[in-house]
Amino acid sequence: MTHAKLRTITRRWVPWWRDKLGLRDWHLDVEYFDPNEDSEKMGSCEPDYAHRTAKVRLLAATTPMAQQAWDKHAPEEVIVHELLHIHFGTFGVGLNGHYSPGKLSKAVQAESVINALATCLVARRRGKR
Ligand SMILES: [Zn+2]
Repeated sequence: MTHAKLRTITRRWVPWWRDKLGLRDWHLDVEYFDPNEDSEKMGSCEPDYAHRTAKVRLLAATTPMAQQAWDKHAPEEVIVHELLHIHFGTFGVGLNGHYSPGKLSKAVQAESVINALATCLVARRRGKR
């Protein structure tokens, strides 16, 4: 997937899913990070609950490897995944930077719940069951 196509998908679906997921009063900034920075990760989300703003960062599709990664991961699902993090953050998952084994396993569990929800929501939006 080209970076231009990724940007088109992002412009279309970030506002749509923000509204659907009950985040209408949130201001979302989308940024693209350089694949050289971290090519393992498709995206991240940094919510600021006090100001109801979040920085959604997506892997820039600017190298052949990053483009292949985007061919494998549906960008819409990644967008939904990152926006769900805003809701999950309110449960205290990943809210502070202090490491503890309990928090780590909570974060891993949250990731799999978020993945399942994102897949399910996007399939439903597309009319699949
Ligand atoms: Zn995640």
